[in-house]
Amino acid sequence: MEFEAVIGLEVHAQLSTGSKIFCACSAAFGAPPNENTCPVCTGMPGVLPVLNRRVVEFAVRTALATSCAVRKKSVFARKNYFYPDLPKAYQISQYELPLALAGHIDIELEGGAKRIGITRIHLEEDAGKLVHEGEFAGAQASLADLNRCSVPLMEIVSEPDMRTPEEAGEYLRRLRDILVYLEVCDGNMEEGSFRCDANVSVRPMGQKEFGTRAELKNMNSFRNVEKALEHEIRRQIERIEDGGKVVQETRLWDAAAGVTVPMRGKEEAHDYRYFPDPDLLPLIVEEAWVEELRQTIPELPGEKVARLVDAYGLSRYDAGLLSSSRALADFFEESLAVFGDNPKVTANECVHWKEAIAAGKISPETIAHAVEDREKGTISATASKKLVELAIETGRPIREIRDEKGLTQVSDTGALEETVSKVLAANPKEVESYRGGKAGLLSFFVGQVMKETRGKANPRIVQEVLKKTLG
Ligand code: ADP
Ligand code: MG
Ligand code: ZN
Repeated sequence: MEFEAVIGLEVHAQLSTGSKIFCACSAAFGAPPNENTCPVCTGMPGVLPVLNRRVVEFAVRTALATSCAVRKKSVFARKNYFYPDLPKAYQISQYELPLALAGHIDIELEGGAKRIGITRIHLEEDAGKLVHEGEFAGAQASLADLNRCSVPLMEIVSEPDMRTPEEAGEYLRRLRDILVYLEVCDGNMEEGSFRCDANVSVRPMGQKEFGTRAELKNMNSFRNVEKALEHEIRRQIERIEDGGKVVQETRLWDAAAGVTVPMRGKEEAHDYRYFPDPDLLPLIVEEAWVEELRQTIPELPGEKVARLVDAYGLSRYDAGLLSSSRALADFFEESLAVFGDNPKVTANECVHWKEAIAAGKISPETIAHAVEDREKGTISATASKKLVELAIETGRPIREIRDEKGLTQVSDTGALEETVSKVLAANPKEVESYRGGKAGLLSFFVGQVMKETRGKANPRIVQEVLKKTLG
């Protein structure tokens, strides 16, 4: 029997606001333990949460960028559970009335585009963190760091629309890119500011009803999400083929062992005793504000790829590489504004030097001048690379370095004829073979001339001179 997987993803994205969602504490990562805390985020009795406007702004912009409907009224609820890193013993989240509903993201696959539905986007606070360190009374001690309590999170829940681990990976990458483009989340999976729980089930091909799902946690890279799903799909199919049943549960991905292991039975919503938080008023998002925020949505990755292909004749692949970062794509277009004769070569250069570009060590003029000099034959490809490296190292204009180092290339036929004669005189056997029909030797002669001129000759002109001289 053939099986098909069904996958739905829940993404928790940490919003890059300066302060937390319900208090003025810093939301920054990496502060000394418990430094970013106050009576509100540590859940002291009698304190009141105050909603951070910026958090709502970021979530509304995300909703607009993913074609969700922003609800005018949404409600914060308490999700009750005990854990030592959750001093209030409840997490403030949105439950029945979330901020936004029913959107989608288009992903690109080898066979074409596919639309993945987004069920909902809601806001919530993060919990703290336990550090298992040292000993207490002869047992493992655990320390609570509450810095992360009330750091703002946005949960984005997808429809069960994905059918393969690759589709899930593509969805996650596209979603991450959108959030980073919007500058609402830094998208760092390793540091946990972009986290994914993956729900997966399998069903016989052709069956309409979904199978029983498992929820996978603890994947800290895109690759790990794909690997965990691959493993879990195989595990579920094997279990069914062996006459067993998949049970609904939460499983942890063990990256070192490459397996998923059971963590706990799946809680049901009623276990949390959700109820509207009496400390917070319903959240009202006025239509006029939504429209104002709509104006701040930048060109998104999918649109950018399409435009770069259209405007500059790039391949979708190259346009995708450039659009992986908004800053890189901007840099590319700024370079083209200086020299725009060969967008494809400029694109390659931008991708090649993308780390230096991201680090701000290279200007659009540097790339533009390097490409222009090469296109015009003033410098060789080898010299060009070296010059860009020197420009990065010194921060000086590339053409200044070029002239100082005398790295312009010899394109003058007369000057090259002499070197060519010298090379031919030194290699009489090869000359004879070439004239006897071994045309492939031409590149050997070109190489010799390049060596003789220490890479300064223009290889195209060298070829011409060689062909003429050799007859
Ligand atoms: P919970 O909050 O309990 O995890 P949700 O209803 O929010 O439950 O669903 C979580 C995710 O599980 C959603 O992304 C949804 O698309 C996905 N999902 C639901 N049913 C299935 C299923 N049978 N197989 C795979 N994914 C599923
Ligand atoms: Mg869940
Ligand atoms: Zn606080």
